Order: sequence, then C-alpha cells, then structure tokens
Amino acid sequence: MYKVTLIPGDGIGPEVTSAMVKVVEASGADIDWEIVEAGEALIEKYNTAIPDYVIDSIKKNKIAIKGPITTPIGKGFKSVNVTLRQNLDLYVNLRPIKSFKGIKSRYEEVDLVIVRENTEDLYAGIEHKIGDYGAESIKLITKPACERVCKFAFEYAKDNNRQKVTGVHKANIMKLSDGLFLNTFKEVGEQYDINFDDLIVDAAAMNLVLNPENYDVMVMPNLYGDILSDLCSGLVGGLGIIPGANIGKDCAVFEAVHGSAPQIAGKNIANPTAIIQSAVMMLRYLGEYKCANKIESALEQVFLKGEKLTVDLGGNASTDEFTEEIIKYL
Ligand code: NAD
Repeated sequence: MYKVTLIPGDGIGPEVTSAMVKVVEASGADIDWEIVEAGEALIEKYNTAIPDYVIDSIKKNKIAIKGPITTPIGKGFKSVNVTLRQNLDLYVNLRPIKSFKGIKSRYEEVDLVIVRENTEDLYAGIEHKIGDYGAESIKLITKPACERVCKFAFEYAKDNNRQKVTGVHKANIMKLSDGLFLNTFKEVGEQYDINFDDLIVDAAAMNLVLNPENYDVMVMPNLYGDILSDLCSGLVGGLGIIPGANIGKDCAVFEAVHGSAPQIAGKNIANPTAIIQSAVMMLRYLGEYKCANKIESALEQVFLKGEKLTVDLGGNASTDEFTEEIIKYL
C-alpha cells in the first residue's frame, strides 16, 4: 500500500479529485489517501493558503496529487503552486500532450512532451515596486537549474524512446539569461546520443500551431513552459485533458495543467480527465504499471465510443456520468 497526500484544492478541484479517487480505487491500486486541505478557504484561519502541515505531509509521504488552487490576480498571497514547487524543490514540470482518438480537435496525431523548468525565471515572482512609478520583475536563471532540467529532458527522451529534444528560449533578446539556458541545453545535449535542436519561443508558438507533429520532447524555462503547455492543450482538446507532474529529487506532486475554473465549479460538469491522467502518471512513477495501463485504456475506450463526454468535449455528460463510464471499462 502507498500513502499519498491528496489535496482537493479550490473551485472544480474537489469534484475532479473525487472522480480521480473513484477511478484509481476501481483500478485496484492500493492507495491510502492522506487528505490535506490547502487553498483560498484557509487564508482567514492560517494567514496562508498553504499551511505548514501540507508541506509536512508531502515531505513525509514523498508523493502527492493535488487539485488546482485559486491564486488572486495582481494582489494578495504568493501562489500556492509556486510556493510548493520552490519549497519542495520540484524542479521539473512534466506535461505530456497526446491526442485521444475520438476527441474532436484540430489535430489527430499530436504526441509531444513539455519539460518545464519549475523553480526560477520570471515565474518565481521576484519583484518589487519602484515607488509609484513602476515595478520590476527579476528573471533569475541559474546554470545548475538549467543543467538539471535539461538532463531530465534528455534522460526522459532516452528512457521513453523519443527521437528529438528541442530547447525553447529567447536568447536572441535575453542574451545573458536565456543565453545561459541555451548554452547549457547544448552542453547537456552533446552528452547524449539523441538529436536536438533549439527554437525561439515566438517561432515555437507558431510552429506548434502549424506543425505540432514536428515536435517530440521540448524543454524550456518556466514562463515559456506555462504558456506553451496551455497552447498545446488547445491542440488536442483543451485544458480538461492535460496532466502534469512536478518532480524533484525527493518528492513528486501530480496535478492537472488547468486551474480551478471557478465559473463551472460546483456544477458537476468539469472534465476530470486531466487529474485522472495525472494519477496514471503517478501510478507509473510508483511502478504500478498494470493499474496505470488499465485506466489509460478505459479512458481511450470512453473517448472512442464518444457517448459520455463532458461539455468541454462537446458532450453533455456530467462529471459523475463520465466517471462511471470510465469505471465501467475498468
Ligand atoms: P482555468 O484553467 O481554471 O480555466 C481556463 C478555462 O478552461 C475556463 O474556461 C475553464 O472553464 C476551462 N477548464 C479548465 N479546466 C477544466 C476542466 N477540467 N473541465 C472543463 N473545463 C475546464 O484557468 P484560469 O481561469 O486562468 O484560472 C482560474 C484560477 O486557477 C486562477 O486563480 C489561477 O491562478 C488558478 N490556477 C491554478 C493552477 C494550479 O493550481 N495548478 C493552474 C492554473 C491556474
């Protein structure tokens, strides 16, 4: 039995994580969930959306799966996600983007993986005001952080029989920070027997929309990874289906790419596929391949049949009906 920290989260989080738990349990995986609350509702009581007990639970169990957490825009508390990633040194954000047969989208054969640096860059939120006149955000890029994320990308490519790694950057303009990322990417790439190339982030955005099949593993600094993974989710059916894993040396936290979607929260219409696919990644990380494969194949059959799809995928099934359909195929 594995003990896993489960953070239901805000907005649609409790609905999609509860669907995920039902599916994982129906697959036969033996998981003891340690449920810990984090998010908006705790701010009044703890003066933070992520009390210490959350971090302690993840450090103890070494593995967690979380629903999305709301981050106030332009004010208030530092993002829970950024705090978690930095405190636990979860230096990689791994996001596989794959088409499912049966989900209508602009492309049918997308199969690429985004490896996003997860601890620094503009996304770290190091910023300060310059009086009333302006504000300054610092883009911190360090060689060790570039090295370990690029190594992860090449190791991932090697282990998963991927053919190419593309480094994404804006080193033509940010010659020092992104230049360091690019040079490190090339140095690491030279150590592997895998094809690699690099691409400027704006060109990457266009090329991904025109020819996503040209990409395999893509590694990039934090902010570009944030933006391009949402773009890529749009290539295969939207945010409701894309999973993710935050991976560090000691712990891993699995979560969907999407946010708390407050507009649809509490309506039993959210698509739980993304968090269910995150659980599939988690089960593989734990070595529970049989249960992971069973869930993945049940999802494939539900999409292929296409009778019980959630609203975001053009269907009219509720979260519960969609979940029951997956369990039927397990
Ligand atoms: P969002 O991902 O919540 O929503 C974007 C769009 O996608 C909305 O139209 C939403 O309805 C739809 N959507 C998202 N997930 C869906 C699902 N599972 N099923 C069906 N439709 C889905 O992004 P946002 O609106 O920019 O952010 C809302 C809040 O979530 C913000 O506070 C943001 O900071 C937070 N957020 C948290 C995380 C996280 O915890 N990892 C990630 C992104 C955003």
